[in-house]
Amino acid sequence: MHTPLCKHAHGEPAAYAEQALAAGLERITFTCHSPMPDGFWPEVRMDEDQFPLYLEMIEDCRRRFAGRLEVCPGLEADFFPGTEDWMARLLDSVELDHVLGSVHWQGGEYQQRFWRGDHADFVRSYFDQLAASAECGLFDTLAHPDLIKNFHPDLWHFDTFEPVIAAALDRIAAAGTAMEFNTSGRNKLSGEFNPSARMLGMMAARGIPVVIGSDSHVPRRVGDAFGEALDWIDRAGYSDVSLFRRRQRYQVSIEDARQVVARSAVGGSRRGSPASAA
Ligand SMILES: [Zn+2]
Ligand SMILES: [Zn+2]
Repeated sequence: MHTPLCKHAHGEPAAYAEQALAAGLERITFTCHSPMPDGFWPEVRMDEDQFPLYLEMIEDCRRRFAGRLEVCPGLEADFFPGTEDWMARLLDSVELDHVLGSVHWQGGEYQQRFWRGDHADFVRSYFDQLAASAECGLFDTLAHPDLIKNFHPDLWHFDTFEPVIAAALDRIAAAGTAMEFNTSGRNKLSGEFNPSARMLGMMAARGIPVVIGSDSHVPRRVGDAFGEALDWIDRAGYSDVSLFRRRQRYQVSIEDARQVVARSAVGGSRRGSPASAA
């Protein structure tokens, strides 16, 4: 979940927290876009000198909702080769509950480095970077791990890239990093969750822990489609989902998570099944 500091999300943290209560959730983690060094893609993130303000905003929200909802500080940090040391220092400077690592192919700097004029090559380099983001050891969970399918969805064919995805997942499993099941993908170009059902199954087969996220950029999406997400994760072969506290991973059984979602006014809706949506 995000804050207005990233310049493309709307609503104050308290509005996200109110929505979380309406969704029946017990706990939320803000993961706004991290600062980056050297003016890296500044349009979509807080400035470095706003980082203390970000932490204050979350702390203020945590206090306001204490006893009703657990509000945790986290971060969505970009992975980009050459910035790892800077990011390690930033992450060491503060106590966070959960850090997502993201490979954002949409960024100008990213495209300048990795676009060599060929779609398949760009997809392959994306999954190589995704695996490298796990191997760098900075992140708890890899965010929206097939985001590249939104780049020319017409050219995205799972079968074509399955070996590339499998190789990346082998490296991620070896690194021990969790991966996100992000429910915002359905609102994007591909019209699918991130990852797809097939990739989720490949993650489950490798024992890669999975974390559910809404990636809310507006309060009304908090907890969006979490009931469906649990169905997908269950069918993929998982028996539990993971969450992070003080950057330690905990597991919650799918059954226990379902009971939380069942209290929801918004997240328990079941529109379609994995089979019909895949
Ligand atoms: Zn964003
Ligand atoms: Zn992202």
